[in-house]
Amino acid sequence: MAIDFLYPQYEVVRNPARCIACRACERQCSNEVHAYDDELKMMISDESRCVNCHRCVSICPTRALKIVKTDHIFKENANWSGETIMEVYRQASSGGVLLSSMGNPKPLPVYWDKILINASQVTNPSIDPLREPMETKTFLGQKPSKIERDENGKIKTNITPQLELSVPIMFSAMSYGSISYNAHESLARAAEALGIYYNTGEGGLHQDFYKYGANTIVQVASGRFGVHKDYLSAGAAIEIKMGQGAKPGIGGHLPGAKIVGDVSRTRMIPEGSDAISPAPHHDIYSIEDLRQLVFSLKEASNYKKPVIVKIAAVHNIAAIASGIARSGADIIAIDGFRGGTGAAPTRIRDNVGIPIELALAAVDQRLRDEGIRNKVSLVVGGSIRSSADVVKAIALGADACYIGTAALLALGCHLCRSCQTGKCNWGIATQRPDLVKRLNPDIGYKRLVNLVTAWEHEIKEMMGGMGINSIEALRGNRLMLRGVGLNEKELQILGIKHAGE
Ligand code: SF4
Ligand code: SF4
Repeated sequence: MAIDFLYPQYEVVRNPARCIACRACERQCSNEVHAYDDELKMMISDESRCVNCHRCVSICPTRALKIVKTDHIFKENANWSGETIMEVYRQASSGGVLLSSMGNPKPLPVYWDKILINASQVTNPSIDPLREPMETKTFLGQKPSKIERDENGKIKTNITPQLELSVPIMFSAMSYGSISYNAHESLARAAEALGIYYNTGEGGLHQDFYKYGANTIVQVASGRFGVHKDYLSAGAAIEIKMGQGAKPGIGGHLPGAKIVGDVSRTRMIPEGSDAISPAPHHDIYSIEDLRQLVFSLKEASNYKKPVIVKIAAVHNIAAIASGIARSGADIIAIDGFRGGTGAAPTRIRDNVGIPIELALAAVDQRLRDEGIRNKVSLVVGGSIRSSADVVKAIALGADACYIGTAALLALGCHLCRSCQTGKCNWGIATQRPDLVKRLNPDIGYKRLVNLVTAWEHEIKEMMGGMGINSIEALRGNRLMLRGVGLNEKELQILGIKHAGE
């Protein structure tokens, strides 16, 4: 029907002087955009299917292809953008909820970009990280408020289980099912090589990956998929997922089409059945209920593993975190509103939650004010894009950062934001065997190691520039930060001064 016609968002531009009709693009595009026309003796494109993933562009041996944004427009209207109009058409046609993936792409403020880092000049000299030792080792878990020694000087304070990280970065939760076996293998091997952790997400742990348990965080979400005693014992820490930045307040839904083979066995649900995680945990309606689950999991793992509680950054985050810190949890993970996802309702992803920078500053301050900051470590995620974001997060009060999208980019993701289709051309967000094969874990894990190693060098350089030689001395050191272009209220919540002050 003409009323449903939507002009394609992207155009496939093929340079006929370069195209040799090798049909590589046709074989590589899971969206079936390219085809060879026998009559015309040339390649043709159905651009309405293109998601702008750059796979064909990267593979084309003669660089004959490029993808451009269409210049076809609706009549200008500052209120009704072309995108909004098309979304209304789509919903009027389908009657369904709009689905999206990856993080919120809206032009809301990115506070990391409005915060600048200090450097020493003349006094308090900078430190050269190539010549001086720099400590980035991080321990996550409850810290005692004081150390007691016995009559022989030996420490007698009981230290609860800790996670030890070589650098304050971990790979955030991405379930097997939402991402491929090869993507999980790459993350697991990289975490082991780097001395950090990756996170199973809510899909359980594939049998093949139990050997990486010392570098694995196992997640317990509301659906309890793949959760059993061996699973809880397999990881180095257990994470209770209460919320996720991309979709605060709602559950998850992995379509039955993706519940195949090992994914169904790992999740312990029948093949083809939808994996629906309820919005709340049906046994948690208060901090006391949460406390019961925290201690049930500690009991089940012989009090040998720290328990993390992951929440989405929402309006009253500081009060919620204060409650969690009193629940017996060892670590609180906070996921900001730009956090990625394999699939989320578009309206939720783009309109619910708050920026991680403000959430982190508010939580750190509240826990300090209440004298309970030592009771928990804080891990933040939700669009940590570079080593500079990590340094700013640590100075704002985080103990470590979760990275998800950046890790997937290292594996080849081109942020086409089509993960929900299951046809990821880069072999990441898919279970199709022909597509999964495109991601080689031998290469994938090395690229992740390279990424985190590069960030570690940069973190040390920034620390050295500030005259700081230990990540511990940077933690919560907001004097090292200044704001630019922020109003009084934003500066007050962030707890930093404006540049020039
Ligand atoms: S979907 Fe990806 S592979 Fe297919 S035409 Fe578009 S950019 Fe190329
Ligand atoms: S994981 Fe794949 S489908 Fe998802 S945004 Fe990246 S390239 Fe696109």
